[in-house]
Parts: sequence; C-alpha cells; structure tokens
Amino acid sequence: MSDTDDSVAQFPPKDPARPEERHGSGFNVATRLVHAGSDPARFGGAVNPPVYRASTMISQNLAELRRKRQLHASGERAYGYGRFGTPTTHAFEDAVAELEGGYRSLVFPSGLAACTCALTAFVGKDDHILVPDNAYFPLRNFARNTLTRFGVEVEFYQPLDVAGTIARIRDNTRVLYVESPGSITFEVQDIPALAEAAHKRGVTVLMDNTWATPLYFKPFTHGVDVSIQAGTKYLVGHSDAFLGIVTATRESWEKVQHTARQFGQIAGPDDVYLALRGMRTLQVRLERHWRNGIELADWLGSQPLVQEVLHPALPSNPGYALWKRDFTGASGLFAFQLAPLPEEALSAFFDHLELFKLGYSWGGYESLIMLYQQHEVALASRTSAAGALVRIHAGLEHLDDLRADLQAAFKRVG
Ligand SMILES: *Cc1c(COP(=O)(O)O)cnc(C)c1O
Repeated sequence: MSDTDDSVAQFPPKDPARPEERHGSGFNVATRLVHAGSDPARFGGAVNPPVYRASTMISQNLAELRRKRQLHASGERAYGYGRFGTPTTHAFEDAVAELEGGYRSLVFPSGLAACTCALTAFVGKDDHILVPDNAYFPLRNFARNTLTRFGVEVEFYQPLDVAGTIARIRDNTRVLYVESPGSITFEVQDIPALAEAAHKRGVTVLMDNTWATPLYFKPFTHGVDVSIQAGTKYLVGHSDAFLGIVTATRESWEKVQHTARQFGQIAGPDDVYLALRGMRTLQVRLERHWRNGIELADWLGSQPLVQEVLHPALPSNPGYALWKRDFTGASGLFAFQLAPLPEEALSAFFDHLELFKLGYSWGGYESLIMLYQQHEVALASRTSAAGALVRIHAGLEHLDDLRADLQAAFKRVG
C-alpha cells in the first residue's frame, strides 16, 4: 500500500490544521482563495474534499474515544460526532477563516441562522444591544421579537450617526451590531470609529459582512470581533444552496462555539461543498459583479426617471469617502430611487424585463431586481423618498445586454 492509500485508510491521517499554522501566508488573496482549506494529500489526491455524509463517527478503540472526548471538551476539533463537523465542513471553515483573517469560523445552515446564533452567543437577561435600523430585516425581527422575550433590551440606532450611537452605549451594553453597507439603502458605517468606542466600554462588535465579502472588506483589521457571512449570496454564488458562516477573533471564539454547539445547527454536506467550490471563483466573479454594478449605477444616474442612485462606490454617494477608505472593492448589489409612478407604470417597468428577474436574494451569477415599498424603505432609510426603491443585483451577463434590458423598461414607462 502506498503512503497515500495508507493515509486514506487511517482517517483522519493528521490533526486538522490549527489556525496558527494557517496564517501568515505570503500569497496574494487570489492565490489563497484557490488553495485555502485545501489538502489533497489527505483525500487520496482529490483536488476537492469529499462530501462526508456522517452522523456517527467510529472510534477504533477506547484510547481514541478518550482522546476525542478530551479534544471536544477543550473546544478542539475531534471527529467524534458529525454534528461537530467533518473534513468537508472543516475545509470550508478553514478557507473562510483564512480569507476573513479571523481565528476560526463555524458554518451554519443559513445566513440568518449565523446572524441569530452569533448574536445570541453574547447576550443574556438584562443586557442591552445596539442594532442599526437598516439591518437585514429578519435579523431585526429576531432581535425585536425573540431576544426581547428573554429579557434582552434591543435598541435600534441610525447607522450613520456615529456620535449618537456611541452615546447610547451603556454599562450593560454587550453587543454593537453593524451591517455595512445596508443591504437595501446602502449606508456605509464608520466601523473603525464605532468599534474603537465599543471596545473602550467592553462591547463586542458583530458585523454582517455579506455585501463586501471578506475579499472587499477585512472586518478584523477594522475592529470587528465577529464577522458574519450569508454564504448563500456570494460564497455559494450560484443561487442553489443556503449557508451561513461566523468567524471570530480568538477572544470571541469560545462564546460563538459554545452557543453554536448548544443550538445544534448544522449545514448539509452538499451545501458546504458547494460553498467551498463557489469560493474558488469568488474573485473573478466579484470583479464582474463590481464592474457591471458600478457601470449600471453610473448610467442609471443619468436616467430622467431615476431620482437617486444608492451605490457606495459612486463618488456622489454620501458613503463614498468611507467606502474608499475601508473597502477594496464593491459587489454587484445597489439600489435606485424611481420617480413616483402610477401602478401601471411600475408594472410596465418590471413585468417585461428579460434578464433582470424579480426575486429575493443576490450574489448568484444571474441578475435580479426587487421592488421595495415606501414603508419598508422609510424604516430602513433616512431619505424621505417619494418613489419606489428598486434594488439591483448585477449578475455576470454582458453589461450591454443588462443596460439594454433596463433601457427598454424605461421606454415602456415612457
Ligand atoms: C440574505 C441575507 C442574510 C440571510 O441569509 P440567508 O442565507 O438567506 O438566511 C443575512 N444578511 C444579509 C445582509 C443578507 O442579505
């Protein structure tokens, strides 16, 4: 039997990589994206890790069982029970932790599960948390409707009001939640300033970093303690799987892991595999999303029926300076404000688009469009806009075709 065969037979052939061994790689991020979490020698030479379908995991003898128990008790990885991870989930988690620049990552069955579990990890009865009023709506609802039932005081703040937000920090504030840019109205938050003030008061900073992905915003170098990704969006990238992932600093890791274990949330192995596969092409896809998005945003700004374009990478955007300072790119998601239109005109605009499909979510290869009604926008935004807000996800199609599709929609409205 060759060494390789042997290593397959003796699973696991070596302990999973420890975080301190993974970091400090001198490669560019594009290179790291291709190789992070990858270990072909471990899987008989296969480039991609196998999809492990495992609940029960057998120990060869008592000594191994005891070793696994000990590892598990100390929070280390041990292949003792599938709920606590398999080589498939660990490969994905290692890749994300490396990309985010955090200590470790944990996978969740959806982006929302990642948000709610991360938040729950840091709060208890009589604690106070600060959540931006433009945060992802289901997360807002969880904080407002569920956390409050357990005695957590939830306060919403305006994402652009740095001084006002800092002033709201109290002795019992445990979490400052940030999401930048907001996923409907695209406010860019001053995260380093907020994080610095939060840390002075012992407050943990949690960030939903789905829009930029860790490729275009490095949460941990900007003061974030816990970074959350709806992997469903750009990491998976093909609109065919749900996934969430939470990455933490060494200091925050234990709370995240402890709570996650108790909730028992696990992601299916196929979905984890798809997310890891999606990551390999993340950079090339994001470049196109970015270019298509900013070009469309720029062009939309010159359309008579468009009142305002909300895209942080447009120099006219109020968040542009912060975006330029803190981000290294833009994804394909942005919005624009339509002039007030009667219902028939709105239907004329939306109902005959060929490429922009009317659907929730974003981050897939295909272009999407979504209408947000007045009351939803008013909740999320400080602009008192009269017309409808239209959110665009610029997909990977050719820019000319996307522009022509929207051009035709404007023509139909007249
Ligand atoms: C979609 C989304 C989520 C939730 O992800 P799911 O996988 O759909 O649960 C969280 N945050 C943001 C910003 C999102 O857009």
